[in-house]
Amino acid sequence: MNLLLIEDDDIETMKFQRALSKLETKYSLTEAKNGEEALEILETGAELPDIIFLDLNMPRMNGIEFLGILKQHEQIKYLPTIILTTSQNRDDLLECYRIGVSGYIIKPLKYEAYEERIKTVLDYWNINELVKA
Ligand SMILES: [Mg+2]
Repeated sequence: MNLLLIEDDDIETMKFQRALSKLETKYSLTEAKNGEEALEILETGAELPDIIFLDLNMPRMNGIEFLGILKQHEQIKYLPTIILTTSQNRDDLLECYRIGVSGYIIKPLKYEAYEERIKTVLDYWNINELVKA
């Protein structure tokens, strides 16, 4: 399964990589630092990801702006997108679900709990049929 992580914070990206490396299933990970970079990857990349993990607070193009553009794209609008954030802001949550996200995960402070959540999300998507655009 191919994953795209859109995250501006290197420490968060390392945390995600570390959580992935602990899993039995192997994933291929592409990283983008913000929405702009992610769109470039999605528009020009030969292989599309199966799932997108998206941070909300990022410079240049934030998560919600990215979502708005993603959902206007015929080819990529179906890709399941899961918000991975520290934002407990209810407006953010409502806006993300309104635009059409597949999940909204608030990152727990404890690393073990974080790892468990990533595993749970991926286990769930592994039993789903994917778009394979
Ligand atoms: Mg961020």
